[in-house]
Amino acid sequence: MAPKKQKKKMEGAALIGIDVGKEVDLGEWYQQVITKGNMISYYDVAGCYILEPSSYAIWEAIKSWFDAQIKTLRVRNCYFPIFISADNLQREKDHVEGFAAEVAWVTKGGKSDLEKPVAVRPTSETAMYPYFADKIRSHRDLPLKLNQWNNVVRWEFKHPMPFIRSREFLWQEGHTAHLTKEEAGTEVRQILDWYADVYEKLLAVPVVKGQKTENEKFPGAEYTTTIEGFIPATGRGIQAATSHCLGQHFSKMFNITVEDPAAKEAGESKHIHVWQNSWGLTTRSIGVMVLTHGDNRGLVTPPRVAEIQVIIIPVGITAKTTPEDKDKLYKEIDELADILRSANVRAETDMREGYSPGWKFNDWELKGIPLRIEFGPKDSARHVVTTSRRDIDNKDEARGEIPISELKDAIPALLNTIQADMFKKADDAFRAHRVQVTDWKDFVPTLNGKNVILVPHCEGGKCEDEIKELSARKEEGDNTAEDSRAPAMGAKSLCIPFEQPEGIVQGETKCVNPNCKDLAKSWILFGRSY
Ligand code: AMP
Repeated sequence: MAPKKQKKKMEGAALIGIDVGKEVDLGEWYQQVITKGNMISYYDVAGCYILEPSSYAIWEAIKSWFDAQIKTLRVRNCYFPIFISADNLQREKDHVEGFAAEVAWVTKGGKSDLEKPVAVRPTSETAMYPYFADKIRSHRDLPLKLNQWNNVVRWEFKHPMPFIRSREFLWQEGHTAHLTKEEAGTEVRQILDWYADVYEKLLAVPVVKGQKTENEKFPGAEYTTTIEGFIPATGRGIQAATSHCLGQHFSKMFNITVEDPAAKEAGESKHIHVWQNSWGLTTRSIGVMVLTHGDNRGLVTPPRVAEIQVIIIPVGITAKTTPEDKDKLYKEIDELADILRSANVRAETDMREGYSPGWKFNDWELKGIPLRIEFGPKDSARHVVTTSRRDIDNKDEARGEIPISELKDAIPALLNTIQADMFKKADDAFRAHRVQVTDWKDFVPTLNGKNVILVPHCEGGKCEDEIKELSARKEEGDNTAEDSRAPAMGAKSLCIPFEQPEGIVQGETKCVNPNCKDLAKSWILFGRSY
């Protein structure tokens, strides 16, 4: 083994566990956590990964919750083909420019070249909107609200990272058409709120809601709303999900019009272009969850999305234990699992022979199961179970005892506590690393302190580009190479948060960029990002 690698290894780590500290080499740590935690297996096409049942179960939990929400808005699921004709893909200028570098093309069928290559969808606006033009004939056909749970392909050349940036990923893409701008806008915000709920309430990951600047908005959109997450280990922001108002840009290109009902009432005939939205949430969310909560023992999964919430492990069996006593204990463990399942807790037992309880503890910790129940003859005699929480590092603090008669209520309550505590810990970390800066001299040092930064800004695109350049410059003595791939990455604007702090006096407060002559319009969140 290379000496460098050896230095990274953690002393005394169990062989099955993670042997690189999260704080030592995040990239290597992440790879180990997702592979040893059975979330991902590698595949022989670069940037593509196998989602194992444990991670797919998390995706299903997200899917079933979000799907139920959008159905309350009368959004209906459908499926469009994965291929898009070149003609359609190129119909909206900004859109095609934005995606051109990442589109994968099918150029051959078997041995013969295709007369017209077809694109693999990077997103489905241009696949779906000819259909919208066809189906929407009258204002009575509005609103039209469709959603797909599907896969898309973006042939990214940035460094791929399982879940976070892959060339093929799973997502939902909602596409809706409305009569008015107001109605479209209300939906954009409702969806964004639900995306925030997916992160905060299901994955226990805090986010900041806001609007993208003109520079960073979706190609072809009128405006883009976003939720921005934060990875404390690197101090970098991450775009967690986006809800776009496409305005009338696509409806003009695809000729999606209806007769204006107001004009009609006045005896006139006037056609108006519909207002459209699109919104997407991807499997990136699972990666953000892993990076946020995982520790040096492996994954830590929030109870609400964990495939298994409670694992029950027999303890205290020795060479002296009789087969009858062992059978009795195992039977009691099965009964405990039944009690929990009847209380809608996803509980499993681990009666594998040939493994010590300690080995099993490590194994389930690695997989991030939120709560362990240990049950042995002593517990049985006292009619209690011993619990151990995955989210608490200190072994003594993690442990507890619950009478069997109280399990039905106490375990769901404990799982709720774990969920809430995980969110609080992550939220405290994000708040502590969201720093307000008004003086340029503090900008890069604050960034280097693994923070994202709120600054007064003019909202100008060129100014944003300049800040990116200025903050990318490596300063003397700067040793921020925590990520060798992005040692001196510049800061870009993450969003204009909806929740604006006090302090900007319109017409007075200057933009933070020392070279910018303009006045600040709002606080903008800047950061190095994924
Ligand atoms: P967009 O359609 O570009 O607005 O993307 C929707 C969401 O997809 C973004 O907000 C990201 O969170 C996520 N995303 C973008 N690129 C990738 C990728 N390569 N892998 C996984 N998720 C992605």
